[in-house]
Amino acid sequence: MKRKEINSSRMPIYRDAGFELYDAKNTSEAFKKETEHSREPEFYIYSRYRNPTVVSAEEEIMKLEGCEWSLLTQSGMSAIDTALSIFQNGKETRPWLFFSEIYGGTISFIESVLKSRRGLDIQYFTPDNGKYDLVKFEDAISVLKPELVYIESISNPMLIVSDVAKITGIAKKYGTKVIVDNTFATPWLFKPLSEGADIVVHSATKYFSGHGNLTAGVICGNDIKIMQSAIEYRKFVGHTLSPDDAYRLQTQIQTFELRFSRQCSNAYKLAGFLKSSPVVKEVWFPGLKNHPTHLIADRLFSNKGFGAMITFDFDGTDMDEKKNRRDKFIELVSEKIKLIPTLGDPHTILMPVEAVWGAKYPEPGMIRLSVGFEEYGELENNISVAIEKTK
Ligand code: PLP
Repeated sequence: MKRKEINSSRMPIYRDAGFELYDAKNTSEAFKKETEHSREPEFYIYSRYRNPTVVSAEEEIMKLEGCEWSLLTQSGMSAIDTALSIFQNGKETRPWLFFSEIYGGTISFIESVLKSRRGLDIQYFTPDNGKYDLVKFEDAISVLKPELVYIESISNPMLIVSDVAKITGIAKKYGTKVIVDNTFATPWLFKPLSEGADIVVHSATKYFSGHGNLTAGVICGNDIKIMQSAIEYRKFVGHTLSPDDAYRLQTQIQTFELRFSRQCSNAYKLAGFLKSSPVVKEVWFPGLKNHPTHLIADRLFSNKGFGAMITFDFDGTDMDEKKNRRDKFIELVSEKIKLIPTLGDPHTILMPVEAVWGAKYPEPGMIRLSVGFEEYGELENNISVAIEKTK
């Protein structure tokens, strides 16, 4: 039976593992064309290669990032693996330079896969006083001449904003590619590709999905050669997102701007509130004037907001008092604000920084908040009542 055209306004979920190719001539043509690695093939062959529901969701992300192509993967980590691995060529490779303040899972991948298993020459560039010094960066890059530089537009958990426009300008002089993890900023605040970045990656598990109910990643760019390599790598290692998850992502992403703009506005207000609390020693939020990278954020994010993540530290006379405050706070808010190790959920959620990152951030009073899009008054009230009781 031939497929009937249905007058649906949405891309359906095509769950086909393999697609019908009709005859030998068509099959040969489809497989020949497949070696061109086009973004949207004329004939789909096999869902691990490409799938129409996945391609349709990718087009939604292309509109958001304003880019020529985007490729969905099964997680943020598989997007990062794809973005990096396509620059590994099996010969002597130039070093890869990573900004040091990046997601812990990415650091683990670098250390145990890229360094230990693949033996790549990995270098880190560290910030000074909560900010990357770009004079030192140029010194480092002029000596190392790395193949690529990897940064986060807003880092986790100290929320350091990288001056992507200047970083790409410096990198270009040395023929170095720039990969930006834009998960925390999202294209709503900032589009790294228009500032000269070569590749953008996201954990779509976070704000794009926005409901804490699916795991996905995406790699975006404008350079067609990079896209072809990424399509080939994603296919060979089997990183392609499933059609079911692509369908759900495509649906949930429709409300991305509504959700994220409200999350940013809630976070801005909440950061100011936390800053005024006598039991809070420090608040890290790029929207606050005292954040080391506030001026960069102000310039890059074009008055739309400063993201929806806040890290703060409870005050105390010693480590024990700080830790007790943190634990009491977590217990008191737990009905409304849950300890869930992710971010970008509808409701505000939290994570104790020292319990997750250990020696890297040893201050026991530190908490990272992923601010949700609930009604602001209620959110501030929940936090303020709990903070009062920690005094
Ligand atoms: N990049 C950032 C900034 C993240 O915070 C995370 C996860 O928390 C990832 C990448 C990895 O994404 P996933 O968990 O979807 O693999």
